[in-house]
Amino acid sequence: MLLKKVRTLWSRYALSSKPAVVYTAAVSACLLFGWVLTLSASWLQARADLHERADTLVRQFEQQFANANAVVGRIDAITIDASGCDIPRQMLLSTMQALTQARYAWKIGPDGRVCSSDTLHPEMPPSTVDGSGVQLVSVAMSGRQGLRLVQRGNGMSVLELSVEPFSALLAQAAVGGKQARLVVGSRALTADGMVSAVSENDDGGLDYLAKSGDGAFSVSMQLPWSVVVEASLLRRLDAMLLAGLAGAVLAWSLLHHRVARNSSGWEIAQGIRNKEFFTHYQPIVTADNGECVGVEVLARWRHPVQGSIRSDLFIPAAEDAGLIVPLTRYLIRRVTKELKQVALPPGFFVGINIAAEHLGMPDLVEDCKILLAVLREKKAMLVLEVSERFPLPEHQVTYRVVQDLRQMGVKLALDDFGIGYADRNYLRRWGFDYLKVEKGYVSALGKDSFKTNILDGLLQTSQQLGVQVIVKGVETQGQQNYLSVKGFEFLQGFYFGKPMTLNHFRQWLYSGITQDRQPVIGAARMARPEASTR
Ligand code: C2E
Ligand code: CA
Repeated sequence: MLLKKVRTLWSRYALSSKPAVVYTAAVSACLLFGWVLTLSASWLQARADLHERADTLVRQFEQQFANANAVVGRIDAITIDASGCDIPRQMLLSTMQALTQARYAWKIGPDGRVCSSDTLHPEMPPSTVDGSGVQLVSVAMSGRQGLRLVQRGNGMSVLELSVEPFSALLAQAAVGGKQARLVVGSRALTADGMVSAVSENDDGGLDYLAKSGDGAFSVSMQLPWSVVVEASLLRRLDAMLLAGLAGAVLAWSLLHHRVARNSSGWEIAQGIRNKEFFTHYQPIVTADNGECVGVEVLARWRHPVQGSIRSDLFIPAAEDAGLIVPLTRYLIRRVTKELKQVALPPGFFVGINIAAEHLGMPDLVEDCKILLAVLREKKAMLVLEVSERFPLPEHQVTYRVVQDLRQMGVKLALDDFGIGYADRNYLRRWGFDYLKVEKGYVSALGKDSFKTNILDGLLQTSQQLGVQVIVKGVETQGQQNYLSVKGFEFLQGFYFGKPMTLNHFRQWLYSGITQDRQPVIGAARMARPEASTR
């Protein structure tokens, strides 16, 4: 489903009339795709980096707290007796010396007597110590930020650490726009050494919380989206250049690759809308004197990017895509306009190729009326050519359409006669006026006696059925001579005239009428090469 959509989108841009649009679209699409890829890569890399840094910080802090806990254990062993705090204070101070970040220590005996390492603050405000384990403190009175380790057992032992070594580690980990915090309970220490209540990160971005093994603290790391996006844009210029190049290559291949030549429904619909289809006219002449008595209208497609596309490719594609009817209607309108400008010999017939399904549509009657009006003015006839390849739908509607067309004077030709299933019954049922013999029978003349015999026998059949025969694909004088001698009436082929634009056809026709009015067998006009200009 997605692939189909992408293909439609691609072909849409691939077939845009302006290569610049194709290049812009393809390069932009690849740049966008490349950017999304680099963004994802940056995101994954940033995420892995964030995890690694947070886990490392946790290990570093665990080490620090293990050292500090060892000191707290020694504080716990200090006893306080009635002789006062002098000796315990000395012991507290010497114990703290083992740890550079230790700032204050307190020991509270089981009887509630308190000794402090700090002579200025010998008493510890009991309200600041609550619970046990690691605690983050911010003493409002002194503006002091600290980390305390509290152990309860032999009374209570408290060790207060300076936050600076911890915030320095946080700052180290927080380079490149990251934010790192040490979270203990409901408080957090940031890289700037401040302790505050934990707040939600509302900037959006990557978030990671690494917990310590004992759950006493955690490290929170964050990286805003803006940093990730910036990294994906600036640090991946090489990838973006590659993506741009890939876009240019893609556009080039879309414009030049054969795949883009395939006629999809969308392209044909677009072609009809943009009036890219036009008509060529191929003369039909009398077999005995080469006089032009009719013409077959053949569809041509000049694609704005792909150039000329063969009708044996786009006609079946239009049939498959259900667009043959709109295409034919467009061509009928075009032929109506074009033929208004041309003087046609009386009795001249104009053959239009019609898909079998079109004959089952009452709209065809209306479509033909306008062309018929123009042709009637010129005393010309309209012949609808339906191929023997596809049987006509045996529906009431089709019979009615055919009947209506007949009443209007429209003639019916069975095209490609000799390749399919059409038997006498089929021919009678639909009442064809002309049989257009498939090209292969003429090219088989002198080579394939079986086909030659069938061609010879056809004349008799046609006379019995009361239909006229047009032999297609006449390419040589020898073929013309043979067919004329056999008694065939009408011929069509490169020997007389290739399909050509209206202007060429008009010149061809008028020059024939004025200069070559009494042609003889073998004096057919030189065929012009198929004109490719509109
Ligand atoms: P077709 O109806 O048999 O048309 C005649 C085809 O034979 C044309 O090919 C014409 O160029 C080619 N041709 C004419 N004389 C000679 C000759 O002496 N030798 C050779 N080798 N070829 C000759 P074209 O124009 O490529 O058309 C191919 C087919 O496409 C047509 O075959 C017809 O079936 C279909 N087609 C063309 N235009 C239309 C259209 O407007 N509507 C529909 N439904 N089909 C169309
Ligand atoms: Ca035809």
